[in-house]
Amino acid sequence: MEETLKLLCRLQTVDSSLDELEEMKGDLPAVVASLQSSVDSYQSLITEKQNIITSSVMARDKADVDILEFKEKLEKYKAQQYEVRNNKEYDALTKEIDFASESMKNLEKQFASLESAMTSAKSEIDAAAVQLEEVKKQLDEKTAELAEVSKANEEEELQLTHQRQKIVVRLKGDTLSRYDRIRKGRSGKAVAVVRRGSCGGCHNKIPPQRLMELRTQKKMFMCEHCGRILISEELARSSATAV
Ligand SMILES: [Zn+2]
Repeated sequence: MEETLKLLCRLQTVDSSLDELEEMKGDLPAVVASLQSSVDSYQSLITEKQNIITSSVMARDKADVDILEFKEKLEKYKAQQYEVRNNKEYDALTKEIDFASESMKNLEKQFASLESAMTSAKSEIDAAAVQLEEVKKQLDEKTAELAEVSKANEEEELQLTHQRQKIVVRLKGDTLSRYDRIRKGRSGKAVAVVRRGSCGGCHNKIPPQRLMELRTQKKMFMCEHCGRILISEELARSSATAV
């Protein structure tokens, strides 16, 4: 039983290291993905603003042409006003003049608002371009970091997996499945070392009678609070060099 407990203790150490490696990997891909989505959204913002500029240029040029047309008409009407023969004609021309000058006013307003829309779109593009460069730089860094971590972890992971296999073949099937079951339910920690009379997993006190039994290492004991496999400190120490 002592041998089994030592193996379980060693297995827990190996599994915890593997969990840590997994966590290290787990964070970077998420960071890279989030940076990538920032890059995408800045790029689509820039495209959207460029489209606004393109359509504003077209609308502004059209407004410019229309303004000139109304201006010509206005001059023509004003000249005609000198040649009218009656009030009816005069009133009709006045109506045309009012309409043309009102239209010109509206077009000029439109022209000005298109110009300002273009200016603000341009400055938004400039700001987004700065941000995009910054995020792209971070993305490159994190992508390289992830590649490095994956590469560095690869070797360690292989070593740990190998160690794990060596331990596992020496454990009985039901012991291993019990270990796996507890590990799953207790956030990766199936084995708890007893420290100062308490379970190292949940920190609850262990009855003195049970502590005495634990030291004999004749049987496997579980913590009655968290269900983890209890191992004495002495055994934990000696297990570090056992395998
Ligand atoms: Zn416990």
